[in-house]
Amino acid sequence: MSVADSSAADSVAAPDTADTSSSVGVFSPPGYYDALAQQVLDGTPITREQALAMLEASDLDVPAIISAGYRIRHQYFGNTVQLYFLMNAKSGLCPEDCHYCSQSKVSDAPVPKYNILKRDALMDAAKVAAERGAKTYCLVISARGPNEREMKAVEEIVPEIKQKYNLDICACLGLLDESQAARLKACGVDRVNHNLNSSETHYEKICTTHTYEDRVQTLRHVRDAGMEMCSGGIIGMGESKSDIVSMAFDLNELGVQSIPVNILNAIDGTPLEGTAALTPQDALKALAMFRFVNPDRELRIAGGRELHLRQLQPMGLYVANSVFVGDYLTTQGQAPQADYDMIRDLGFDVTGSCEEMSV
Ligand code: SF4
Repeated sequence: MSVADSSAADSVAAPDTADTSSSVGVFSPPGYYDALAQQVLDGTPITREQALAMLEASDLDVPAIISAGYRIRHQYFGNTVQLYFLMNAKSGLCPEDCHYCSQSKVSDAPVPKYNILKRDALMDAAKVAAERGAKTYCLVISARGPNEREMKAVEEIVPEIKQKYNLDICACLGLLDESQAARLKACGVDRVNHNLNSSETHYEKICTTHTYEDRVQTLRHVRDAGMEMCSGGIIGMGESKSDIVSMAFDLNELGVQSIPVNILNAIDGTPLEGTAALTPQDALKALAMFRFVNPDRELRIAGGRELHLRQLQPMGLYVANSVFVGDYLTTQGQAPQADYDMIRDLGFDVTGSCEEMSV
């Protein structure tokens, strides 16, 4: 059943947010968000209206929203945190024009430019991932899609990494056709990352060289090949709150298992340079909304975490259950020890041991 079609008969009425803004406004009625979480836990999905109301809520509601979202997160993931490690196996040189991306041909950002790394460099990075307690090694290349040389490189390295370090492998290689997806599955790739990035209606404003439907089609190939789908997006690209809600529901309906939410780092030299940043409160409301819409899916705070949540990062982990440890693709993350300290101070545990916009 489509979430959008779900009956609202058992759902909690969304509060009236008409006279509120994100920085001033009024509290929602006491217990409203707890009731909404209970509704979700009882099996009645949140409606689009309720999800939008959460994004439009006053900042005064942020503690209540996070607290209620934690109940959902705890139901499915307890106090566990999954760590991911990103490896930018090929940087820059991409012919696509994704406006947020520093590796695009239309970006002037001074990022490293290199073709797919050799075996030793990829294995060294896998060793670091294992040492840092990562569950998954995310192998990322900048490309519209992988060429034959890149496919062969991935097919060779994946079995070796898995055999030596027992890491799950997530490949982020751009658009894939059916046969490429089948080859990735055959060589041992567990999961493919391919982000929707935004809503269908906003997509043409952030990219003109491929379409939203192209991205959805790649995810279908990944699913049909029997791999897990990792797909999320970027918030703060000038989209409306309805666009963010739309993306969250599309990801749910596609059945993606893992949802990375990036908060735009408007890198100088990219077309989105100078885009107004979201507030930490708006970012937290969005993360919580993704949790309410996708209660049992892995939710990861991805690129932009340190930059935009700043001292409120721990609040994000009350609704998300995963982060990247270490650097992003072309920007630095905080030191791994800071993440371990944050997780420990929350009383949470690390479990187990692409991303295109994980800048
Ligand atoms: S997001 Fe991916 S496809 Fe788009 S420009 Fe960057 S590397 Fe290329």
